[in-house]
Amino acid sequence: MPKTSTLITEGNAQLYVHKADTISKKMAVFYNPRMRLNRDICIALLNTQPPMRILDALAASGIRSIRILKETAHTDVTANDVNPLATKLIAKNARKNKVKPTIENRDANALLNSSEGYDYIDLDVFGSPNPFLDQSIKRLSRDGILAITATDTAPLSGTYPKACRRKYWAEPLRNELKHEVGVRILIRKTQLIGAQYDKALIPIYTHSNDHYFRIYFMSLKGKKSVDDMLTLHRTMWHCSTCRRFDIGKTKSCKCKGSHAVAGPLYAGRLWYEAIASAMTSDNANTQKTLSTIAAEANINQVGFYDVHALCKALKLRAPRHDRIIAALNKKGFVAATTHFTPHGIRSDAPYNRFVAVLRSESEK
Ligand code: SAH
Repeated sequence: MPKTSTLITEGNAQLYVHKADTISKKMAVFYNPRMRLNRDICIALLNTQPPMRILDALAASGIRSIRILKETAHTDVTANDVNPLATKLIAKNARKNKVKPTIENRDANALLNSSEGYDYIDLDVFGSPNPFLDQSIKRLSRDGILAITATDTAPLSGTYPKACRRKYWAEPLRNELKHEVGVRILIRKTQLIGAQYDKALIPIYTHSNDHYFRIYFMSLKGKKSVDDMLTLHRTMWHCSTCRRFDIGKTKSCKCKGSHAVAGPLYAGRLWYEAIASAMTSDNANTQKTLSTIAAEANINQVGFYDVHALCKALKLRAPRHDRIIAALNKKGFVAATTHFTPHGIRSDAPYNRFVAVLRSESEK
């Protein structure tokens, strides 16, 4: 165990973590304080769920497992990591916090394969969750929850389209919708793995922050659920001139500008409203994100209007969000700022109606 260990506080937990000049894969045991939001949201979501058998498959310092035991009513938690330095640290941290996770020092896939299954499996990886999807989905119980993190957002968001095709079997977009498109591509990829086992993995909560994506799926068993889910795998086009977009295909945009085609991607809901509105956090910053998402979760639309990108394309002065949203509401549309970008508004208003509001508010 490296001696350069320091005591930190996160949520209700106090943890020994290894000191590092930079956060990287090369740390003796990985700990990233910037992932606090990711863990706070995990706690908030688990607090809406009944008792479950929980597996933290890549636990590193044990921070997530320990916080689950301290901050939720869940008691059956397994913290696993293949790195023996990590499992030693988890044991030390568990003692420090007076909690008792089951600690395993195995390859996550081997552990999953020999297990009876879990009701909640967390794949909080560094990089892509791909290597663990198959075994996790196989060992996920009926109505169980699979949580995945992807920190390789560059391929998914269009910086490396070839890598996206290889690893996620779809075409990304590289514009203002890139993160939502990336999330939806990752969802479809995960769903295709589930479909092989007659499991429909339906997103119940999704967020994109900093440099990672995070998705919570509920696993519904049955061929019918899977068939229904697959009908939501669609392509999407986006015009680089007028910024219009839609699900499906088009020969040419109405403005005659050139358009890009993304996907296939999951064109269904990213949130289950009842869960999104029930989630709360003691941390003010996390609560702010939860509230933004809870408002956004009510609007079942793929994509959002990026006010900056639209105003630039249409040569308009950007109006304030609250004024745009109020004007849309007055016309009978739902609208809310998206958590994907502070410049984006998700709304059921069609493009022309949104642009009309933008014009009139911009002239006021
Ligand atoms: N979930 C942690 C961060 C995990 S970092 C948190 O919230 O802080 C990724 C961890 O996965 C590392 O500790 C690494 O040792 C572990 N890991 C990598 N490959 C693994 C495998 N095949 N099986 C189990 N653990 C693995």
